[in-house]
Amino acid sequence: MDFDFTPEEEAFRDEVRRFVAENHPGTETPDPGAMKKWCEKLVERRWIGFSWPTEVGGGGGTVLQQFILKEEMSAARAPSLGFDFMGLTWVGPALIRWGTDQQKRRFLPDLLNARSLWCTGYSEPDHGSDLGSLQCRAVREGDEYVVNGQKIWTTLAHRAKWIFMLVRCDTDSSPSKVRGITCLLIPMDSPGIEVQPIVSLTGVHSFNQVFFKDVKVPVGNRLGEEGQGWRVVMGALAHERSGISEATEKVRHLEDLIELARGSRKNGRPALEDASVRRKLASFQARISAMRLNGVRHLTRQLRGEAPSTETSINKLLRGSIEIEMSELALGLQGSEGQCEGDWQARSLNFHGTVIGGGSPNIQRNIIAERILGLPKD
Ligand SMILES: Cc1cc2nc3c(=O)[nH]c(=O)nc-3n(C[C@H](O)[C@H](O)[C@H](O)COP(=O)(O)OP(=O)(O)OC[C@H]3O[C@@H](n4cnc5c(N)ncnc54)[C@H](O)[C@@H]3O)c2cc1C
Repeated sequence: MDFDFTPEEEAFRDEVRRFVAENHPGTETPDPGAMKKWCEKLVERRWIGFSWPTEVGGGGGTVLQQFILKEEMSAARAPSLGFDFMGLTWVGPALIRWGTDQQKRRFLPDLLNARSLWCTGYSEPDHGSDLGSLQCRAVREGDEYVVNGQKIWTTLAHRAKWIFMLVRCDTDSSPSKVRGITCLLIPMDSPGIEVQPIVSLTGVHSFNQVFFKDVKVPVGNRLGEEGQGWRVVMGALAHERSGISEATEKVRHLEDLIELARGSRKNGRPALEDASVRRKLASFQARISAMRLNGVRHLTRQLRGEAPSTETSINKLLRGSIEIEMSELALGLQGSEGQCEGDWQARSLNFHGTVIGGGSPNIQRNIIAERILGLPKD
């Protein structure tokens, strides 16, 4: 396998570096005004939705250029590529793959011009890992579906304009539990939707419970056919788990950790000279490199026109273990001083959530065991 980039790709990398040097707002999390300006500059260059086809208004970049773009932005600690992570990471690609022409015309321009904000309605109480058993129902009445049920852990439902949502359309007990699952695109201001906040253990409100009572949704807002929802979101989930640009984010966390070890003491010496600390740092480095190469393998599949594979679960699992172990090491190095320093503490608490979002570690292990290693189910 050739891991080198072509001269054109390296030239593109230089272009991104120049852009970042000239336009970086000085922080990864700018205020709304500075973020709007940053997004406008990205839109000008068509770097939001950069790898989407030009026919749908995308930048027409290759998936490798998209990878370089994300890698360089992350390495430079630049703000994100647009506001709408979920919209850009899976709603847009699902619309391009499954949407009607009318749906593409309606939704893609807002995504590409940083005007959209989507949330994702998969999980329900008792149906998180076991997503195929979801119970939220949609009953067809003429040209509309009438939706009743509940979603939970819905990130940003209190701010999103639309929800990318899975419902169950079949009423019989079909042999395949995923058979009746259908994907609907629902405006969050529809009558009958109620959003209730859930505050996380770091005191942040990003999750919600969302209740649907007789919510009417035009049939034209169905993505894919009735009963095809499982296929629509499985591609989306693989994108969510690929973790390609996240390897660069982990490189930065490792740099932070090395700095912390340099400034901390263990057994009367700088912690960076301690053999056990060095071994852990080296293990992070090795696993981050594996993550990046596995991400490149995912890209290679995409370049060959193949569907995202279950191998993305490897990166999801790696990322989770790296995050938890990094924060444990950091808090150990800080000792009692850690109580006065919020950064690694907040990361440590947040990581317990981010390892679960998009599918828990055990679920990734099941996927790897059954679908990659071919081990028996029981
Ligand atoms: C940060 C974050 C953001 C999220 N954002 C969203 C969102 O925007 N939209 C959305 O719909 N959902 C979201 N979720 C929900 C997330 O998808 C679910 O929490 C996740 O799928 C796990 O489901 P659960 O919470 O019901 O846990 P459960 O499925 O009840 O799992 C509990 C435990 O049992 C284990 N387990 C379950 N089944 C098996 C099995 N078959 N084999 C082995 N172990 C098993 C799990 O690994 C876990 O440890 C988010 C969650 C987090 C933490």
